[in-house]
Amino acid sequence: MDDYLIVGSGLTGAVIARALSDAGHAVTVVERRSHAGGNVHEQTHASGIAFHTYGPHYFRTNSEKLWDYVHRFARFRPFEAALKSLVDGRLENWPIAASYIRRAARDWAPSPAGVVDNFEEASLAMMPRVVYEKFVKGYSEKQWGVPATALSASLAKRFDVREDDEPRLMRHRFQGLPEGGYSAFMSKLLDGIRIIVDCDYLKRRGEFSARTVVFTGPIDEYFGFAHGKLKYRGQRREHQYLPDIDWYQPCIQVNNPAAANGPHIRTIEWKHLIAPEQRNAIGGTLLTRETTVTPDDPNEYEYPFPDDANARLYAAYAEQARAIPNLLICGRLGEYCYYDMDQAIGRAQVLAQRLIDEAR
Ligand SMILES: Cc1cc2nc3c(=O)[nH]c(=O)nc-3n(C[C@H](O)[C@H](O)[C@H](O)COP(=O)(O)OP(=O)(O)OC[C@H]3O[C@@H](n4cnc5c(N)ncnc54)[C@H](O)[C@@H]3O)c2cc1C
Repeated sequence: MDDYLIVGSGLTGAVIARALSDAGHAVTVVERRSHAGGNVHEQTHASGIAFHTYGPHYFRTNSEKLWDYVHRFARFRPFEAALKSLVDGRLENWPIAASYIRRAARDWAPSPAGVVDNFEEASLAMMPRVVYEKFVKGYSEKQWGVPATALSASLAKRFDVREDDEPRLMRHRFQGLPEGGYSAFMSKLLDGIRIIVDCDYLKRRGEFSARTVVFTGPIDEYFGFAHGKLKYRGQRREHQYLPDIDWYQPCIQVNNPAAANGPHIRTIEWKHLIAPEQRNAIGGTLLTRETTVTPDDPNEYEYPFPDDANARLYAAYAEQARAIPNLLICGRLGEYCYYDMDQAIGRAQVLAQRLIDEAR
C-alpha cells in the first residue's frame, strides 16, 4: 500500500508528490490525461514551433524562494510578456497606456476610491467610459459570457493603467520560460515518482489503496455533482499555420475585445516564445485563436466563475470534503480558485509540509 495516492499530475499534484517523495514516503500519481503535467504542458507543431496546449503560460513570481525552487527542475530564460489590444483597427498597449486615456478623454481624472457594486463600476473608476468600452467591456463579456455589470468588482484588480515606458503585462521581479519547455520541466519535477497516465481515479478508485488520497481534480465531480455543477469558462482553440510569412503580429498575444472583429478573445503567435537564435531558423508562423465557452466536460474547465452562487456551491462541497478523513482536495480545480503557477506551487508546498508534519 502506498502512503499517498496523488490524483492529478499538474503543478499542485506534482509539487506535493515531489515533497512527499523527497521526505521518504511511498507515492503514486494517477493522471487521466495521456500526458503528465496538467495544464502546464507544451507540444511541438510539425514546423518546429512549440506551443502551450492549454493556452499561453508566462511564469512570473516575486518570491526568490519560488524562483530558486523552479530552477531545481529547469533553467529559465528571461521572458516578459508584452501584449496589445486590437482597438479601432490599431494595436494598442495592454494594459491600457495612460497616454491613450489622455488622448481619448483629455479632461478625465480617476475617481477617488468609493463603493463600487460591480466590475463595470470598478473599471469606470480607473478609466473613462469611451476607453472602457473599447478595451475592457467587450473583452470581459467575451471572457465571462455575461454583462459586465453582473461581474464582481474584484475582477477589476487584475488590470491597471500604465505609463508608456511600462508596457509589460506583469511587474513581477522574476519572469521567464523554462528552457526545454514546460513538459520537460514537469517531467523533471516528477522524476523518479511512479505515475500512471490514462487513468481516471473516479472510475477506478477500487484499484488503489493508500493511507491518504490527495485529489487535485474538480471537487464537484469528486462528489458526483451531488449539490450541482460548479460553473467554469474554458476556451476553444483553433490553430493556423501560415507557411508564407515569418511574423503575423508584433507580440505573443493580441486581445480582441470588439465583437465586430470576430468571436475570438485573443490571438497567440507562438514564435515570440522561442529564443531569438532558434526562431530565426524556423519558416512560417503558428497562430492560435482562443474563443471562450462554457464547457460541460470537466477536462475543459479553465476559469472558475466569479460570483456568489458558485462560491456558496463550492463552500458546500468543501465542507463535505473536510469531513472525510485521509482525503485532501486541493489545486485550482479542487479549491475552485484561479492560481497562477507560482501561487499553485506555493500553496502545494504548504499543503505538502502539513502532510509531512502530520505523518511524523
Ligand atoms: C488558460 C489558462 C492560462 C494560464 N496562464 C497562466 C500564466 O500565464 N501564468 C501563470 O502563472 N499561470 C497561468 N495559468 C494557471 C496554471 O495553469 C495553474 O496554476 C496550474 O495549472 C495549476 O495546476 P493544478 O495542478 O492545480 O491544476 P491542473 O494543471 O489542472 O492539474 C490537475 C490535473 O488533475 C487531473 N485530473 C483531474 N481529475 C482526475 C481524475 N479523476 N483522475 C486522474 N486525474 C485527474 C487533470 O487531468 C489534470 O492533469 C493559466 C491557467 C489557464 C486556465
